[in-house]
Amino acid sequence: MLTAVVGINWGDEGKGRMVDLLSADYDIVCRYQGGNNAGHTVINDYGKIVLNLLPSGISREGTVNVMGNGMVIDLEHLVHEIQSLRDKGIHIGPDNLKISDKAVICLPWHKMQDIMEEERLKDKKFGSTRRGIGPVYADKYMKKAIRMGDLFAPDKLPEKVADLTEWKNLTVAGGYGHEPIDVDEIMAWLEKYGKPFADYVCDTTVYLTDAVKAGKSVMFEAQLGALRDIDFGIYPYTSASTTLAAYAPIGSGVPQLKLDESIGIMKAYSSCVGEGPFTCELFGAEGDSLREAGGEYGAATGRPRRVGGFDVVASRYGALVQGCTYIALTKLDVLSYLKQIPVCVAYELDGKRIDCFPSDIDELEAAKPVYEYLPGFNCDISNCRSVEDLPKEALDYIRYIEKAVNCPIKYVSVGAEREAYIKMF
Ligand code: GDP
Ligand code: MG
Repeated sequence: MLTAVVGINWGDEGKGRMVDLLSADYDIVCRYQGGNNAGHTVINDYGKIVLNLLPSGISREGTVNVMGNGMVIDLEHLVHEIQSLRDKGIHIGPDNLKISDKAVICLPWHKMQDIMEEERLKDKKFGSTRRGIGPVYADKYMKKAIRMGDLFAPDKLPEKVADLTEWKNLTVAGGYGHEPIDVDEIMAWLEKYGKPFADYVCDTTVYLTDAVKAGKSVMFEAQLGALRDIDFGIYPYTSASTTLAAYAPIGSGVPQLKLDESIGIMKAYSSCVGEGPFTCELFGAEGDSLREAGGEYGAATGRPRRVGGFDVVASRYGALVQGCTYIALTKLDVLSYLKQIPVCVAYELDGKRIDCFPSDIDELEAAKPVYEYLPGFNCDISNCRSVEDLPKEALDYIRYIEKAVNCPIKYVSVGAEREAYIKMF
């Protein structure tokens, strides 16, 4: 079984917790894009864990975790993330973590460039996570990147790093007027944070192809959501990578394999980090109560997230481009405090009602939400574990969304803990 678990919205839908839960049935969990701009919060037997780079199957004994070629890896961050999980008693070694030799290293200069550019943009900034993700993907496509495999070619690495440092200084020192980067510092950084991974780096094409041939099942874990996809999202307010299910086999190392299913993770309301159009945004007291109820503060950055009601237009589009087989609806319990649930049922553009997600950023920025209110369940549902346990209004809300996005909802989560969920069928 090859399954992708992907975000339908703007990210932070609860992919990490669903992968942590559903990975019980899989032998391998593979992250296939993005870097440590992701923040996945998982609550299980080890307590509360925040994952940025590691796949969310990392705390399951017997599960092998793969970091694919589509990822960009800040080695210093990875070393610290691994240490913080080991401190909680989680085993991480070459037996349960494999890193693609083709994954690109996110260097200190990428982070630097990200920060310098956001500072330069001032009030025109993109709301970057400042983790270097945009710059490192740009360098990958400029073919000016260092990949994990390069670390273990000692005869070639120094020259490569020297050439790239010289090139990067044209921007860092020449363009931004920053102090030039010292090649020895970069070599020392690679030595310190890269060398520990010698036994983890492998050709994931060989590893995964053999594993699948031997009957192993693989779950592919995405970071961010459909609306942040570099091509199909709200460009330029997107991430720099492909967040879609269709990219999962490519970003993992097995482009020859086809997915059996794609599980879309969709939130019972909306949230968005950073700048850019967010049509369904709720402001004032209505927004504040929802943010509080949902604890909507970024796991990677701590930034307050923008919030809104469930967005039918955006979510239907997200489910379409993710090719969802079915959906896991998350955080339904957050809406418990509401007597009436706000739902953005359509957009209004130039006085006309539209149901289709605009691909033009100017149209999207001009679009206004059309809100309707559905009856709230207005009671605690966090202990519900079956369809029968759910109050009628909660079930009606689930059925309404299912119909609106045209995809069956298989799971509903009602709390952050691993077992706080309902299987609908
Ligand atoms: P991801 O980036 O998609 O993995 O999602 P995040 O982990 O960034 O954000 C989801 C947040 O919601 C985390 O803090 C989770 O612990 C929390 N969460 C996940 N599912 C539920 C749920 O069903 N109910 C509640 N109340 N919180 C949840
Ligand atoms: Mg997140």
